[in-house]
Amino acid sequence: MATMTKTARGPQIRQTQCFIGGNWVPAASGKTFETINPATEEVITQVAEGDAEDVDRAVKAARQAFEKGPWAKMDARDRGRLMFKLADLIEEDIDELAQLETLDNGKPIRESRHGDLPLTIDCLRYYAGYADKIHGQTIPIRGNYFCYTRREPVGVAGQIIPWNFPMLMTAWKWGPALAAGCTIVMKPAEQTPLTCLRMARLAQKAGIPDGVINVIPGYGPTAGASIVKHPGVDKVAFTGEHRTAQIIMRDASETLKRLTFELGGKSPNIIFDDADLDAAAVGTHVGLYLNQGQCCCAGSRVFVQEKVHDKFIDKLVSMNKARKVGDPFDPATEQGPQVDKAQFDKIMHYVGLGKSEGAKCLTGGVRSGDRGYFIEPTLFADVKDTMSIATDEIFGPVLSVLKFKDIDEVAQRGNNTFYGLAAAVWTRDIGKAHRLANQLRAGTVWVNCYDVFDAAAPFGGFKMSGIGRELGEEGLKNYTESKTVTVALDK
Ligand code: NDP
Repeated sequence: MATMTKTARGPQIRQTQCFIGGNWVPAASGKTFETINPATEEVITQVAEGDAEDVDRAVKAARQAFEKGPWAKMDARDRGRLMFKLADLIEEDIDELAQLETLDNGKPIRESRHGDLPLTIDCLRYYAGYADKIHGQTIPIRGNYFCYTRREPVGVAGQIIPWNFPMLMTAWKWGPALAAGCTIVMKPAEQTPLTCLRMARLAQKAGIPDGVINVIPGYGPTAGASIVKHPGVDKVAFTGEHRTAQIIMRDASETLKRLTFELGGKSPNIIFDDADLDAAAVGTHVGLYLNQGQCCCAGSRVFVQEKVHDKFIDKLVSMNKARKVGDPFDPATEQGPQVDKAQFDKIMHYVGLGKSEGAKCLTGGVRSGDRGYFIEPTLFADVKDTMSIATDEIFGPVLSVLKFKDIDEVAQRGNNTFYGLAAAVWTRDIGKAHRLANQLRAGTVWVNCYDVFDAAAPFGGFKMSGIGRELGEEGLKNYTESKTVTVALDK
């Protein structure tokens, strides 16, 4: 099944098989699945459909690499060096990788080339630098003892990622796991397996030893669930929907795996009447429509203070009208297709609910073109807190505007959701900004900005938006176990 497809648009598709113990192999069942170009609805290629048997082989390879391979014995600084090398190889192939991401996911090339790829490389470099800086403490306990802690790798990490930022999510998961000295069994999303597989090839080229990284493309309920249930996996890191996380938590309970979750959101984006409204409008537009609205932290509930409400909506409407939707390979394109038909249908269903529940659709609300999963940037005004479009994660280019009077009211309404991933506040009053930042129950609060990400800054959710944090030192800790060593000094 060695596919060597040359697409009309450029990127070579070389890796379509399972990557287990350093070998590229077909699925044990021989099955494959299609990955689709969401801009054209055409099949890009067939990919190996891994399931329980392939996961079992991958976990065995990962365990072997963890317990006996050179990875476990390697000096931490050398581990870091290999990670830097991987980042360098990604950078060398940056243009082709960006094209591959755009082909498989549909995101505009300007975003994959100038957003996803640089952030992917930066994340790997950030954690590469951490590899030799993971250390414990000495602790002055009572008595004549020498007590210290060590931070040791958690073991084999099962990593399950979604389709919205395929390469970046791969880096967010691989970076801390590799730095900590873990080995990996990853399942990319069935919609977007290609760049993760290519990254595995580059990891191999960088010299990361066989079995340290294993990738099993396939479906969630089969390949994904097998990772979660496998007794040889020590920890599962998952990004996706909270309902899937609930299944994973149940499945993982049998073996009491360590779990970290990065889940969805219905993030409040709050605009006060004293804000720089032009900057706030741009931040609001980007904060929702980036990546076709397929961001866990999308600012999908936009609260606007009543005095500036109408003026602010006019700004949003004119930006939507100017937004360029179309061929994701055109460098001028700002918005590509949704990732697949299921997401397209889900979003259109919510657009229908928005209209039937009484919100006013000021832009979009319709498909764009007649091929591919494109949706016009959609804006609803007169949205009430109880409407479906204000309560549910839509994960598409649908922005809801709600009116508010004062800070305490908006804090209460902003928090009135079981999600708690992100929030934003736009105001020139620094005291008000900090007060609200403290009141909002969210893992990230942006003030006078939106979607500012950095590998060093922790990201994750309160409430049902997640467990644990990714990125930064907090993200690294999730891949370590703390060991306390106590030595009697008078024996
Ligand atoms: P899922 O949560 O179902 O998928 C995320 C990953 O989990 C995929 O790799 C998926 O596999 C896998 N998975 C699915 N079921 C299981 C299982 N039982 N055990 C282990 N792994 C599993 O999200 P969807 O892709 O279905 O998207 C649905 C909705 O989720 C979106 O509309 C959006 O609201 C939300 N979402 C949130 C994201 C976020 O970043 N917070 C990202 C993506 C989606 P498979 O490839 O087969 O689906």
